[in-house]
Amino acid sequence: MIEGKNVYDQLFKAIDFNKTVRNVALKSAEKAFWIWNVKKNTANKPKEIQKMKFYMGTSILYSLVRNYDREYISKDVLTRIYKTLYQGAFFSSGQKAKDDFNKKYDFYPPNFITLSPSKACNLHCKGCYASSTKLDAEKLPYKVSKRILQETHDNWGNRFVVISGGEPFMYKDDNKTILDLASEFKDSYFLIYTNGSLIDKKTANRIAELGNITTAISVEGYEQETDDRRGTNTYARILQSMDNLKSAGVPFGLSITATKNNAEILTDWEFYDYYFQKIGVSYMWIFQYMPIGRGFNIDLMPTPKQRFKMFKMWEKCIREKHYFVADFWNSGIVSDGCIAYGREGGYIYIDWNGNIMPCVFVPYHKDNIFDIYRNGGTVTDALFSDFFINGRKWQKRYGFGNDKEKPQNWLMPCSIRDNYKAFRNDIITDNIIPEDKMAEKAMNDTDYYNKMIDYDDIYREITEEYWQKRFIGKRNQGRI
Ligand code: SF4
Repeated sequence: MIEGKNVYDQLFKAIDFNKTVRNVALKSAEKAFWIWNVKKNTANKPKEIQKMKFYMGTSILYSLVRNYDREYISKDVLTRIYKTLYQGAFFSSGQKAKDDFNKKYDFYPPNFITLSPSKACNLHCKGCYASSTKLDAEKLPYKVSKRILQETHDNWGNRFVVISGGEPFMYKDDNKTILDLASEFKDSYFLIYTNGSLIDKKTANRIAELGNITTAISVEGYEQETDDRRGTNTYARILQSMDNLKSAGVPFGLSITATKNNAEILTDWEFYDYYFQKIGVSYMWIFQYMPIGRGFNIDLMPTPKQRFKMFKMWEKCIREKHYFVADFWNSGIVSDGCIAYGREGGYIYIDWNGNIMPCVFVPYHKDNIFDIYRNGGTVTDALFSDFFINGRKWQKRYGFGNDKEKPQNWLMPCSIRDNYKAFRNDIITDNIIPEDKMAEKAMNDTDYYNKMIDYDDIYREITEEYWQKRFIGKRNQGRI
């Protein structure tokens, strides 16, 4: 941990120097990161896994510096990122709370929470659950949103918060907005998933003033694909929002759902070069289509072959061009597998009704925050339901934090998408509640069950030998 922090400290100090000096510092930070992460391999993981973490870590640095040099990220905002995200979230200020939690419960707490405070949205995207424009759409009271974040801040040492939706910039309660919420936690960094249609110049400037927010803006590909699903002229509004953020010096990224229809776009350099080089995104999150939610269609998932091709493309992005891309679920290697169920260093998800889920892609819950508060509890209580405990036990069996066993195939890390049989047999409990009618239907639909398992079997056949040979084989063990 300490050595990793020094790498970033060293780089940050060099930011003020001219480009030549900074590039030397960047190379030196990269070297130190390699020695710490791969050569010394203090994590004692197979070295190929450590290498992937190295490529991912350096792609973050290069992506930030690239956009800093183009003046898309201001010095003030970069300083806040450094203080909150690197120092706060990953290294120091929350550490005492984490250690206290560990002493009490014998495991370290999750690193972050994803909160969807409102279901309201101003767009009507095809197939989306959240298409409600009403301001009285289901939402969490502001004081409850704040209380949840305060508890995870104080008791879990969290300094990183993910906000999802609905459309977070539509959230308003007690005359307070999502930006007011971020302003209450100045030592934390917020990642807000947004459709990007509501970030005018004034909002972008306020985000810059706060300095602790980045926005991941949803697209479906290029203009045609985006407008086709999200409505005419949406893409033009998105580009305007991106310009507003660049002018204000705020880093932003992209969020895209991969389906079998756009998988080819996502395995082409043109797409990545366009967004990273021309548009100036600092990161890109690819979410492979998960057959849940309104009108789910299991046949829309990228095919197993497309998915493996996307894995190779993801590796090329972080390795060859330092583009900071995360592909869920192809990037499971760098997170040591599934991060749901309140896993150590992982996360939990709370929606606009206060339902507490293991992950945004697992639409089942046991606990609700309002019930917990009525009973005098805290959000920590939700970590100890049978449902969450089963999930964490499965993660261990699959390889997380279990040094005696080598990890199982982290090319297919997902507890629900990639291991559906285990999800149904070993993780869910009788008392879990589906989020909606579709989640209930999925649970009772034999065709759904068979198709999910067929997909898992086919993908395991494609990846298992590759996983074993490349990531687990003897020559990959220990230090190099
Ligand atoms: S359940 Fe799947 S989507 Fe959720 S954190 Fe685990 S791997 Fe990721």
